Amino acid sequence: MPLPRPLEEQLEDLLSRQHGSAVRVMQAFPVYGGSINEAYRLETSAGAFFVKVNAADRFPSLFRSEAHGLQLLRNAAALRVPEVLAHGEAGGSTFLLMEYIAPGGEDRDFQGRFGRLLAKLHRQGGTSFGLDRDNYIGALPQVNTPCPDWSEFFMKCRLEPLVKMARDHGRIHAGDVLRFERLYGRLPALFPTEKPALLHGDLWKNNYLAAVGGQPVLIDPAVYYGHREMDLAMTLLFGGFHRDFYEAYQEELPLQPDWRQRTGLCNLYPLLVHLNLFGGSYAGRVGTVLREYT
Ligand code: ADP
Repeated sequence: MPLPRPLEEQLEDLLSRQHGSAVRVMQAFPVYGGSINEAYRLETSAGAFFVKVNAADRFPSLFRSEAHGLQLLRNAAALRVPEVLAHGEAGGSTFLLMEYIAPGGEDRDFQGRFGRLLAKLHRQGGTSFGLDRDNYIGALPQVNTPCPDWSEFFMKCRLEPLVKMARDHGRIHAGDVLRFERLYGRLPALFPTEKPALLHGDLWKNNYLAAVGGQPVLIDPAVYYGHREMDLAMTLLFGGFHRDFYEAYQEELPLQPDWRQRTGLCNLYPLLVHLNLFGGSYAGRVGTVLREYT
């Protein structure tokens, strides 16, 4: 789909003001691979830019949240994160305009570099779990009410809201709802104590890029201060990253020796996200994990 003309004009205005001289969009090339939004690489008279677009009435605050999350990750000065140039609304569309990351390849050291830098990001501690605002994970609202206790936060802000949503839409077996109830009481014994760490929050293979020069770049976050095993577990949800990634992370910021035993537990959250978005086979996967921990 071509970029709507009113949006193109607004982007030209914004870029012209930022550059101090007239910028024209020469061409907008669709970029595929996202799951919610339309995305384009803009070739302009001032170079390439990247813009994500959605209907203004679908997710009115999605891009404001994403811009804030990207900015928090950038402020941590650990991993590279695209610079957000603007977000707003034009002609019935919302948009998020950012720096274009030209794709490079993953060189031999890429995964190790990525693991080390993720550990650096996780060193950014917060005062409590959560965030000063709610945001989104994919297209689902994500509750971030601050809480000093991880198990309580995980129960109240991560599992409970999505179990309720799944139950209200008939997407979860009654037996599994009861298993979640049983699991809640066990959480404090299952999770080791950790300080709140700044997380990407949705760290699977489509949410990072390899820039030219082999630099890992984070995109599309669902940022909050959480237990760092959440990010590590998420990398394992659909197959896992390269071994070098985990080794480098461990060297930089060692995990508990038994951290992999909690991968399924942590991934109950993204599995519930998928169950609510896509239903189907995810109900079975949630049930299997629950039986492991209850
Ligand atoms: P969605 O929110 O719809 O899931 P993404 O943020 O995942 O969209 O972006 C869609 C695709 O666009 C990604 O898979 C990635 O390949 C590419 N992409 C995202 N951000 C940038 C960027 N700043 N520069 C270049 N390509 C990007």
